[in-house]
Amino acid sequence: MTKTIYIIGAGLAGSEAAWQAAKRSANVILYEMRPNKMTPAHKTSKFAELVCSNSLRAAGLENAVGVLKEEMRQLDSLIMQAADATKVPAGGALAVDRNDFSEYITHKLQSLANITIINEEVTDIDKFINSTFLIPNSSLIIASGPLTSDRLAENLKRLTGDDSFYFYDAAAPIMTLESIDFNIAFRASRYDKGGDDAYINCPMNRDEYLTFREALINAEKTHTHDFEREIFFEGCLPIEVIASRGEDTLRFGPMKPVGLVNPHTNETPYAVVQLRQDNKDGTLFNLVGFQTHLTFGEQRRVFSMIPGLSNAEIVRYGVMHRNSYINSPRLLKPTMQLKSNENILFAGQMTGVEGYVESAASGLIAGINAVKLLNDSEPLIFPIQTCHGALANYITTAVADFQPMNVNFGLLPPLEYRVKRRDKKSKLSERALNSMSQFIQSENL
Ligand SMILES: Cc1cc2nc3c(=O)[nH]c(=O)nc-3n(C[C@H](O)[C@H](O)[C@H](O)COP(=O)(O)OP(=O)(O)OC[C@H]3O[C@@H](n4cnc5c(N)ncnc54)[C@H](O)[C@@H]3O)c2cc1C
Repeated sequence: MTKTIYIIGAGLAGSEAAWQAAKRSANVILYEMRPNKMTPAHKTSKFAELVCSNSLRAAGLENAVGVLKEEMRQLDSLIMQAADATKVPAGGALAVDRNDFSEYITHKLQSLANITIINEEVTDIDKFINSTFLIPNSSLIIASGPLTSDRLAENLKRLTGDDSFYFYDAAAPIMTLESIDFNIAFRASRYDKGGDDAYINCPMNRDEYLTFREALINAEKTHTHDFEREIFFEGCLPIEVIASRGEDTLRFGPMKPVGLVNPHTNETPYAVVQLRQDNKDGTLFNLVGFQTHLTFGEQRRVFSMIPGLSNAEIVRYGVMHRNSYINSPRLLKPTMQLKSNENILFAGQMTGVEGYVESAASGLIAGINAVKLLNDSEPLIFPIQTCHGALANYITTAVADFQPMNVNFGLLPPLEYRVKRRDKKSKLSERALNSMSQFIQSENL
């Protein structure tokens, strides 16, 4: 039997993985269930369909997603080829004609002789895992996305364990530590339990609390899809819904001030917003209990009213939506391999990366590493100084309740030298791109 890379899902991640593997001469079998079976959000039979916005976000290198895209170009990404060929005017963003974009990718993958496309829903992954399918060094990439079909999801739940496969993403916003104002905020744990550094607290007086609550209730919310309304999520209400239930519900819920004394005033505040450490390096913090349906613009406006967060940099906005993903910190290696079966790799939103570009980037890593396995060589860990490496590192080492993550500069290790704050992003971006160039050269990619 020929050594083969099996890929489930021809979305952003699966398409990029198939391309990276095929261009390295691997034999690829790509399963895509559409159009025979559609997801609740996809509308076409085309590969890498953009289910919502047609934007791949910021184009410039002062933004981490711009750097991630540039790294992908360095690695001859198919998703970036398609995006650059089909872009439409969008100011500082890279937006595409969604039909041409998907058509470009579909056509390219269909035209490669070493890719076989099977339009079938995969309902039984045991046939890959327990049989001759995964002969030594053949491998399987699971890239079935946030709307993985129910039957496959049941399989994955068995493979990863009930408590490591999630169907719903209720994430609170995440901010960079350096953008929090410690002239107002203070570090402390309730009743001094768990160490001084465990939480960052943003204190509010009564007026600030009431104004904030009012803004929260009246802020603009995102549109919820019909298939998401069906989801009942006990004990995880949006912060704005908690706020709307009564004047004090926040103050007796996620914003309770008990056990906290503000060292700036020596008083217990009227209410407190707490932030908890989100990554191992302690550069990112999430707003505890602030899962939300507010639009991204409203999150910027309303959360900047919190004392200490007026200039806070949000690197990941709060969301509440249907999303299948696995507990990557527990299950995956930064090579995208499953720890318990290294011939199985995961890619895309399923791994806990968030966004079109991040999904494609993780597919790129998985595609390259699946070929390494085929060739009996060691799969690659991308350098942590690159956006690819930093993202892979985050999803496999995150410490707080694991929630999907967009790429951002807070994931990269600090610069080895001091620079003015305004130059930091350009230096991080320069280091990332240099590091990727060197990596490509040294690994002969
Ligand atoms: C409703 C919604 C809106 C979103 N909007 C945005 C946005 O505007 N911007 C953004 O950056 N990100 C957005 N995302 C997040 C995410 O980036 C995208 O969903 C992205 O497409 C994920 O890439 P992926 O390759 O992991 O999954 P997908 O692109 O969804 O690809 C997975 C593929 O697997 C196929 N599949 C599923 N199950 C099976 C099976 N059993 N057998 C065979 N094939 C299967 C699917 O048909 C699909 O083609 C959104 C997500 C959702 C759910």
